[in-house]
Amino acid sequence: MDQVTYKGLTFEPYITNDTIQNRIAEIAREINKQYAGKQPLFLCVLNGAFPFAADLFRAIDIDAEISFIRLKSYEGTSTTGVVKQVLGLSENLEGRDVIVVEDIIDTGNTIKKLVADLKEKNPASIRIATLLFKPESLQCEVNPDYVGFAIPPKFIIGFGLDLDGLARNLRDIYVLHDDNL
Ligand code: 5GP
Repeated sequence: MDQVTYKGLTFEPYITNDTIQNRIAEIAREINKQYAGKQPLFLCVLNGAFPFAADLFRAIDIDAEISFIRLKSYEGTSTTGVVKQVLGLSENLEGRDVIVVEDIIDTGNTIKKLVADLKEKNPASIRIATLLFKPESLQCEVNPDYVGFAIPPKFIIGFGLDLDGLARNLRDIYVLHDDNL
């Protein structure tokens, strides 16, 4: 794997697609076991989580559904500064076992607000699956249930993660080269 450059910034290879797929298969096995006899609803948070959600969902061998939501950011008066509004949620979550599928948890503010909003819809349970997790960046209490990779607080692109809309199509995950900082 070679370095890639976007907007004049150099990124180093970090996690290969093979490694990602192996980890996704492990997470899917865990979910298949834990949700046997249930019919979980996967909620993929667009845009970044779509490759992770697609590969994870394909590896699920119990009955399950998937739906997609987007979060709209707008300036709010909350302590977090930016509040996210849930867009596109058409499913009735009442009594459902929901698995939120995220690309990355950084400060945790996004997922915390999302989970609080989803809880108001009275699901039977909510769990969080995130491909990447930066525990050192957390600003609030968030405990993801399924974590692909825990990583240091560095900027990542590829496999759904973008730089100004680009790089989501990279098969592998790349990290911003230290020389750029
Ligand atoms: P949080 O609310 O947890 O701070 O932020 C989550 C969102 O920030 C992610 O869904 C993603 O859009 C963006 N984000 C956080 N860290 C990174 C990163 O390293 N790379 C990219 N491309 N986006 C990130």
